[in-house]
Amino acid sequence: MKILVINSGSSSLKYQLIDMETESVLAKGNCERIGIAHSNFIYKARGQCIEQEIDMPNHNIAVKLVLGKLMDKNVGVISSMAEIDGVGHRVVASGEAFKKPTLVTPESMELMEEIKDLAPLHNPAAIVGIKACLAEMPDTPMVLVFDTGFHFTMPDYAYMYAIDYDHYEKYHIRRYGAHGTSHKFVAQEAAKYLGKDIKDLKIITCHLGNGSSITAVKGGKCIDTSMGFTPLAGVPMGTRSGDIDYSAAEYLAKKEGMTVSETLTYLNKKCGVLGISGVSSDFRDLSDAANNGNKRAELALNMFAYGTKKYIGAYTAALNGVDAIVFTAGIGENDSVVRSKALQDLDGLGIILDEKKNADCPRGTIAEIQAEQSKVKVLVIPTNEELVIARETMIEAKLG
Ligand code: ADP
Repeated sequence: MKILVINSGSSSLKYQLIDMETESVLAKGNCERIGIAHSNFIYKARGQCIEQEIDMPNHNIAVKLVLGKLMDKNVGVISSMAEIDGVGHRVVASGEAFKKPTLVTPESMELMEEIKDLAPLHNPAAIVGIKACLAEMPDTPMVLVFDTGFHFTMPDYAYMYAIDYDHYEKYHIRRYGAHGTSHKFVAQEAAKYLGKDIKDLKIITCHLGNGSSITAVKGGKCIDTSMGFTPLAGVPMGTRSGDIDYSAAEYLAKKEGMTVSETLTYLNKKCGVLGISGVSSDFRDLSDAANNGNKRAELALNMFAYGTKKYIGAYTAALNGVDAIVFTAGIGENDSVVRSKALQDLDGLGIILDEKKNADCPRGTIAEIQAEQSKVKVLVIPTNEELVIARETMIEAKLG
């Protein structure tokens, strides 16, 4: 059983072909700069990495290239398209239209069109990618897997905004969250690692990457998450402001003569640790700058870590205690300084880090980094969003 996972951006298409018997990646890669000059095609399989500048004017051509490479006599991993049993498509926003993974059908595609403007940068790109795959593989079952899916178990008092209830009903304005596949995966991995039934665990999962979100998971189900109506909310991120008083944004917009949409672009692209530091959105650059005495880089790191700590505190209350805190994604898996700062002075909550284990934490594998006297486990777990998408595709398409 082989599942192709597709993650389409407006000018990119990431893909992975996964063998579901072993849950191993047979081939993966990325089509970059689709529709832009000097498009780049990357294909990794059989221990080789092929990178080619190939003209990719649209997603259809990109999908054709991917399938061609997967079936290539020399570097391919399948002999015919029939070997691909299903395709899972990552979709960022679901609104309230989709509360679980859903088969691609004319009806579901119509609904996808209706909710396009919930994520104007992402959802239209996903639709283009799905259509491109349908054109090449019309008979292969395809499934929409939403970043928001895992969060639909939140109680109403956690997902509602305190706005006029009629507006919630009319426009479905509420907290949806993001990174659901990642939170779900690492929570399940944590339970497996701890040898416990996930139903008996209270876990806080910290997905810290370019975009960062924190989720409270009780008995395997999300009960609260830090991102909101869109992935702008929560902790400060690479370039996103995170939580901010709307009045401050409106005040700034007036002062700088920005329109609403310009203000949103500003909050999404020019703020976060990049805005604070003036150095970079990349945490490796920030650490280097802070180590060289750059005070604003240090401030950015401190704000990020403190934001994370506050959510950990809030979710410990929401869960009435916590058994394990999980760090994942680019920063969560790799940045020991951020992990240390985020968990500083939390012994009052039974959370104590072993600084040496944290600093020496191996990469690419599950590691346990709490001190012996810590009541709460602290785990670093590599995420695997594609595998969750592939698993959900198998279930929804009733494969295997
Ligand atoms: P996304 O999937 O949201 O684009 P990632 O999960 O790949 O993001 O995380 C990207 C971020 O991870 C980078 O911007 C960088 O700040 C951080 N990162 C990656 N490797 C390291 C590292 N070795 N040390 C510190 N930070 C790292």
